[in-house]
Amino acid sequence: MPTLYYHHPDFLEHDTGPGHPESPSRLKAIEQALSGERFQNLQRVSAPLPSVIETKLELIHSPAMIQRVLAGMPKQGLSYFDADTVASPGSKQAALRAVGAVCDAVDRICTGQANNAFCAVRPPGHHAMPGYPMGFCLFNNIAIGAEYARRQYGLERIAIVDFDVHHGNGTQAAFYAQPQVLYASSHQWPHYPGSGDASETGVGNMINVPLAAGTNGKVFRNKYREIILPAVKEFKPQLIFLSAGFDAHKDDPLASLQLVEDDFRWLTDELMQIADACCNGRIISSLEGGYNLKALAACVAEHVLALSDMD
Ligand SMILES: [Zn+2]
Repeated sequence: MPTLYYHHPDFLEHDTGPGHPESPSRLKAIEQALSGERFQNLQRVSAPLPSVIETKLELIHSPAMIQRVLAGMPKQGLSYFDADTVASPGSKQAALRAVGAVCDAVDRICTGQANNAFCAVRPPGHHAMPGYPMGFCLFNNIAIGAEYARRQYGLERIAIVDFDVHHGNGTQAAFYAQPQVLYASSHQWPHYPGSGDASETGVGNMINVPLAAGTNGKVFRNKYREIILPAVKEFKPQLIFLSAGFDAHKDDPLASLQLVEDDFRWLTDELMQIADACCNGRIISSLEGGYNLKALAACVAEHVLALSDMD
C-alpha cells in the first residue's frame, strides 16, 4: 500500500514573522524534495480540517487553552503567545489542518486503507502543553492523534518515538500518567525546553534519552539500539507515531548534534522493522523541527523513502 503524504497550501499561511526559523520555506523545501520521480508512488492527501474541532482539541488541551489560542489569532499582523510562539491571520487554518492531517491518517490507517503516513504540517506540535502553547507549537498534533486513536479505535498500546533534537515536553505531559502510551524521546540535553532527564519515567511509560551536544550518528544509533528500539519492541505497539524533527542534523542552526541524512534513514528503517513485526507496519509520522532548509529537505526525502520502502 502507498505511503500517505499529507500537505496543504494553508500550512504556508502560518506566518511567524521575518527571521523566524519555523518559516513557510521549510515546507516549500520539502515539497520540492518530494516532487521528483522517486516519489511518484506517494499518495498525496490534502490535509483536511478536523471534524468536530473542539472535541479533537479537547482530547489533549484544556478548554481555556483552546479558547485562548483560537481567540488569540490576529485579524492582521502577528500575535505572540510567548517570545517565539507566534500566530498570524492564517495560523488558525494551518494549526487546525495540522491536527486534521494526523487524525485523518489515524482514520485511514486504522481502517486498513494505508499502512503509513508522513504529515508535512506546520506549526509543529510536540512542545504544546495541555494548558498552553509553547515553542513554535500551537496544538499538539501528535498527542491529539495518539489520544484519538486510543479513544476512537480502542487501541491499548500506542508508541510515540520523538527524534526531534528538542524534548517533546508537551507530549510527555499529556501522557505522563497514561500507561497505554509509550513515549520515547532522544534529544540534546541540557537544551530547550529543559525537560527530558532520564529520571523522568512517568508510570514506566516515559523513556528519555538525553544526548550531549556534539553527539554523532554512531553514538545516536547505539543509544537507539540499546534503549529505545528494544523498549518499543517489547511494548508491542498497535500503532507507532513519530514526532519527526530533523533538527538533530549537523547543519541545523538551533542545536548541536552531528547527525547526517543517513542516520534518519537508518532510524526510520529500524522503526519500520518493528512496525512490521508488531502492527502490520502502521506508522504515522508528523513533522516537528528542522531548520536548515537543505538538510531538512534531504532528511525528509530519506525518511519518506524509508517509509515507502524504497531505496
Ligand atoms: Zn526541535
